[in-house]
Amino acid sequence: MDSTNSNAASAKPAAELPELVSFRNVTKTFGEGEGAKVAIQGVSFAVHDLPQVGELIAIVGPSGCGKSTVLRIIAGLRPHYPPTQGEVLVFGQPVAGPSADRGLVDQKYSLLPHLTVLENIGFGLMLRGVPAKERHERAREWARKVGLEGAEAKYPAELSGGMQQRVAIAATLIIEPKVLLMDEPFGALDPKIRMQMQGLLVELWKEQQSTVFLVTHSVEEAVYLGDRVFRMAAKPGRLVEILEAPRPDEPPEAMRKRPWFTEMTQDLLRRLEEDAAAAGNLEGTRAWKSHRNGA
Ligand code: ADP
Ligand code: MG
Repeated sequence: MDSTNSNAASAKPAAELPELVSFRNVTKTFGEGEGAKVAIQGVSFAVHDLPQVGELIAIVGPSGCGKSTVLRIIAGLRPHYPPTQGEVLVFGQPVAGPSADRGLVDQKYSLLPHLTVLENIGFGLMLRGVPAKERHERAREWARKVGLEGAEAKYPAELSGGMQQRVAIAATLIIEPKVLLMDEPFGALDPKIRMQMQGLLVELWKEQQSTVFLVTHSVEEAVYLGDRVFRMAAKPGRLVEILEAPRPDEPPEAMRKRPWFTEMTQDLLRRLEEDAAAAGNLEGTRAWKSHRNGA
């Protein structure tokens, strides 16, 4: 596994590079007193600004362990932002709210139903005052990149889940956010389209060199796409492990056949099952087991 750090193409060790996103002992509690609920506790990590590459962080963990909370705090979106304790820095500055340098593709695709595919894709550019002609050209280009040629005039209700997801991804990538936040973006897709979308994401991400945080339920997807995999556990939500994984240099079907890949995903699954069992969550153990069996 000597390719683990092939992404760190620069000569500088990561510790000397500027920090792009950092969490320092971040805790988020919802509510107060008796009914208070700890969403995440004492989460710390740093993602460095690797020149010309960008890093993909995959986040896995059981439902309710705070994955969306982490993403939404980075995005500066309430009610998750601001954290109750600790420091969150983006580009070395405390997060002060949402901004175009951080784009979130949500669990729900959040398309605007009364706008066409092209208008949805170009919506962020419109908000930024980009003139109509340029906006349409760029939106058309992005529609093509995500395989939506010919569907530009359709409305979201006329599209399949997979197509809606592509619109949402294009609508976020067109803004060229330095930090791309994706919350289970492929969750609703069938396995074949899901694999196509993974490949597409890798291509677009290489092209844009942005830093990506990807929340996923699939351990295989995490190991395939992630440069690092963050394993989170629940009760309270926390970050328990950071795993390094080689960067994909072949299609998912081929990479899945590599012995190291099987070993890494099986190991990770086992630890997730152990977390679930330790938390007394048999439901969670079953959920990961069913993933292992090819879901
Ligand atoms: P995940 O995305 O891993 O499923 P979340 O980040 O959505 O987890 O949630 C973490 C915990 O915080 C959960 O226990 C959830 O119930 C709680 N939580 C999330 N959002 C809110 C909210 N707006 N109000 C109260 N509790 C919340
Ligand atoms: Mg979530």
